[in-house]
Amino acid sequence: MTDIGVPHRSSSTLTRVERLGAHSHVRGLGLDDGLEARRSSQGLVGQLRARKAAGVIANMIKDGTIAGRGVLIAGAPGTGKTAIARGMAKTLGDETPFASMAASEIYSMEMSKTEALTQAFRQAIGVRIKEETEIIEGEVVEIEIDRPVGAMAKAHAKTGKLTMKTTDMETVYDLGTKMIEAISKAKVNAGDVISIDKASGRVTKLGRSFSKSRDYDAMGASTKFVACPEGELQKRQEVVHTVSLHEIDVINSRAQGYLALFAGDTGEIRAEVREQIDNRVSEWKEEGKAEIIPGVLFIDEVHMLDIECFSFLNRALENELAPILVVATNRGITKIRGTDYRSPHGIPVDLLERLLIIHTQPYDERESKAILEIRCEEEDVDMSDDAKDLLCKIACETSLRYAIQLISAASLRASKRKSAKVDIDDVSKVYGMFLDVKRSTQFMIDNQAEFVF
Ligand code: ATP
Repeated sequence: MTDIGVPHRSSSTLTRVERLGAHSHVRGLGLDDGLEARRSSQGLVGQLRARKAAGVIANMIKDGTIAGRGVLIAGAPGTGKTAIARGMAKTLGDETPFASMAASEIYSMEMSKTEALTQAFRQAIGVRIKEETEIIEGEVVEIEIDRPVGAMAKAHAKTGKLTMKTTDMETVYDLGTKMIEAISKAKVNAGDVISIDKASGRVTKLGRSFSKSRDYDAMGASTKFVACPEGELQKRQEVVHTVSLHEIDVINSRAQGYLALFAGDTGEIRAEVREQIDNRVSEWKEEGKAEIIPGVLFIDEVHMLDIECFSFLNRALENELAPILVVATNRGITKIRGTDYRSPHGIPVDLLERLLIIHTQPYDERESKAILEIRCEEEDVDMSDDAKDLLCKIACETSLRYAIQLISAASLRASKRKSAKVDIDDVSKVYGMFLDVKRSTQFMIDNQAEFVF
């Protein structure tokens, strides 16, 4: 269908590997059907108004009723701005592209700031492509194999009157002729689901429908076949997959496109390449072969962007393909980078005016404790009640983020003394070992003379 390459991706071919990150406990916004935030749900605690607002925006994004707009999440450090953005991404689901970056990243890339932002924008724009895989000739059989599938292992094989489609090369060679003989003898009808025993070649009819490969085991058969007539088979071959515009850019911008995607080393992409891709994507759109899905671009610590970047964002938001921009900052009135002007959150007023603003509030003790408990659970750390109380006190006096970091350190100490449970002494020891910002600053003040300035 295309003369430009499109990366193929489906949930069955890509496995998402996730580290136990700072926000791994966040599984959604924790809202009820009326979009009211539950006190503690899906890993999020408190911040009821901010979560509700984020939910309303997520719904608008899903309905496509918000475009060329942005959202600013503003609040003190550690009040869950990133956690809420993460909850939003989860609420939107895998079908809505969500790209996330810290503003400072654009200064460390080997490309211009605007190129880095363009790439981020295009990562947040999805293209849902409908494609028909190879037309299958002959009469009878589609084969699906219950083996792990790698993108590279896809194969089609044709033997005699039958065309087999399988996702596993080895299986094609393995089963080929024997299988076809067995199927012919068994007189299967169109739409039948059958199993075939690889060793004996015995065919068993199982019913008339199956869909997911995980059903195979449940049905107790090693391999299943669906027989269907020509034409119908072709119709059912239509596959839909969603990729980002950025992925299409990368694949088409260099010979080793795929490798560059995995390495994250994409370099600058030429404007002509993007232009060609945009034109082609709009053609597909008109022909009903593709659908554009504007996603979300989240930029954390947005005050780190400079005036050039801000004016880029302003312009980029006007584009009809623009994703929803969600930015976060913990700054109040501060200088706009690259200028001598101060403004709220260090963001120029013309951009600020485009943004819906959500505020996060500091946590009370009960909320901090609930968050710490969730993190203990997430990190699989069993902690005594008095240790939790101490940790909560530390969070209130220093910061929630610092207290969260002490959980794994205290757990290490507990396992060193061969205890499965973290006790108050473990927490107090690691509190002494690792300084929070306040104590570190005090240390600097007390020992100024010994530091180089
Ligand atoms: P900063 O301004 O410093 O970037 P932030 O407002 O983005 O901070 P987060 O990074 O979201 O703060 O929060 C710090 C830690 O606390 C993270 O591990 C986060 O997942 C967790 N956290 C914060 N708020 C909540 C919450 N309401 N519910 C559950 N976890 C939370």
